[in-house]
Amino acid sequence: MARVLQKPPGDGGQDLAARPDRLRAVLDNAPLVLFALDPSGIVTVCEGSGLAGVSSQTAADVVGRSVYDVFANVPDVRALVHGALAGHEREMVIEVDGRYFDTRVTPVFDETGGVAEVIAVGTDITDRRRTEEALLHQAMHDALTGLANRSLFERWLADEVVRAADERMMVGALLLDLVDFRHVNNCYGHAVGDELLRQAAARIKATVPEAALVARFGGDDFAVLLPGLSQKDAPVVLARLIVEALQEPFSITGNVVSLMCSVGVASFPRHAADADTLLRRAESALETAGRSAVGVAVYSREEDEFNPRRLTLLGQLRRAITEGELVQHYQPKLSLRTGRVESVEALVRWPHPEHGLIPPGDFIALAEQTGLIRPLTVWAIGEALRQARRFSDAGEEIRVALNLSARDLQDPHLPLAIEKQVGEHGLGSSSLEFELTESAVMADPVRGMDTLKRLSEMGFALSIDDFGTGYSSLSYLQRLPADEVKIDQSFVKDMVHDEYDRAIVRATIDLGHKLHMSVVAEGVEDSATRELLAGMGCDVLQGYQVCRPLPAPDLTSWLEQRRN
Ligand code: C2E
Ligand code: CA
Ligand code: CA
Repeated sequence: MARVLQKPPGDGGQDLAARPDRLRAVLDNAPLVLFALDPSGIVTVCEGSGLAGVSSQTAADVVGRSVYDVFANVPDVRALVHGALAGHEREMVIEVDGRYFDTRVTPVFDETGGVAEVIAVGTDITDRRRTEEALLHQAMHDALTGLANRSLFERWLADEVVRAADERMMVGALLLDLVDFRHVNNCYGHAVGDELLRQAAARIKATVPEAALVARFGGDDFAVLLPGLSQKDAPVVLARLIVEALQEPFSITGNVVSLMCSVGVASFPRHAADADTLLRRAESALETAGRSAVGVAVYSREEDEFNPRRLTLLGQLRRAITEGELVQHYQPKLSLRTGRVESVEALVRWPHPEHGLIPPGDFIALAEQTGLIRPLTVWAIGEALRQARRFSDAGEEIRVALNLSARDLQDPHLPLAIEKQVGEHGLGSSSLEFELTESAVMADPVRGMDTLKRLSEMGFALSIDDFGTGYSSLSYLQRLPADEVKIDQSFVKDMVHDEYDRAIVRATIDLGHKLHMSVVAEGVEDSATRELLAGMGCDVLQGYQVCRPLPAPDLTSWLEQRRN
């Protein structure tokens, strides 16, 4: 290698040629480059193999020239040398022609304290850097698909949100879940599962714009970051395109595999003010998407389980149930055949300190989603039985009807628990009846049917609620062990004026009778409707025209008044 020695000016100069051989060996073999500069920046010594990696210039070409000329296109060199000539020792990584040098510059002083020369040693750390970068890439990417992983996605998202805030742009975050991917692994094996993930990844990448970042969060969870959006609805459009792209069957080693996916969509700044929240909102949307038929959902506050209002309400509801703060109102069901009230329907209400009397429509769904429906139902059964006990003690033959939800029907322990509670109140199965909707049964038909059969065998009367709004599968109605069908109030409400509604009511009454069921019309609000229903042979009426739902004491007075 080229080696040029020149005696530097001044006594402080160092003659490298005089150094021991060991140092020489280090200089020849290590990826080092060493310069000595005079106080005006002229290269007096250039040594080491490191220079060869970056420059076509040899050491001989360099010596005698100004270091500022030699590295004219590396501005960092100027700053570094300037500092050293002013007496400061400095170290920094400098990039020269794509290679990186960890460079230290040291001033050498003469007796008067002036800088006699500057020694600069650069260590080529390019290889180390590349290894580090490769490790970093590995740490930031998913090995199976080569996509970014969660930690890279989160970093990008944080950066993009900051940038979008500056530039008044929008950032979209999509979270994807492949539906029933576990089954693919189970049916076809992991090799097919892995290949499916790779192909799905490729399709997602091909669907989204170049600037988007596609990531795999592990398992069958993917994410797409859409930076710098300006159009308000772009993320959801893209989400639909992804769903469509993944709906095309995959062909993998002779297997044709079909896939469905759910996508949750949230965007900055519309749904969140920072990256963490944005991701959580997309997760919340993904949950909603999983429940929807379309497979795509945009974040909505109401559906968000982390929504502070919802969380507060949930805590308060839990407390209200355990502290026995809920109340039951009772609405009579009037039999047109006997002219008697043969049963009353228990309808729960929540007297809330701030919001007043909250109707069940505002908290039953919340209770269902969070499992609170279970203690609520247990409480409701106990409450209904206390009322049934009061009827029985007063010598009244009136049943209490209780609404059961889908979750209740899926609980295999429910029938026995009910039977036990009924026994504890010293009552029989004729004290209660249960109302349930077709859709509650259909949520899990096998278990739903099983629960119904057992309740029916125990002697409880069963009633199909909201008939006409659910699946309305007539063949199913026939198979349900029900004693009663309740025509939904939406048909009853307008039946006087609406011919179509009237036809449905009439058909349901006929059908119910053919199946030997008693037919109830709910939501009867005026006497015209009442008379129409009586003329059609409807068996039981319920509605404001007969009586509104009443607290227990008011119900007692109402029943007494009717008798007199
Ligand atoms: P549902 O079983 O269909 O109850 C009938 C609803 O219609 C009740 O609303 C009742 O107050 C109302 N209603 C009665 N007559 C009339 C009328 O003439 N006109 C009008 N416009 N409405 C009338 P509510 O009390 O708000 O209950 C709503 C739903 O909450 C019930 O619908 C039932 O599905 C559910 N629910 C109530 N209590 C319970 C419970 O203890 N457990 C469960 N799982 N669900 C319950
Ligand atoms: Ca009901
Ligand atoms: Ca109903």
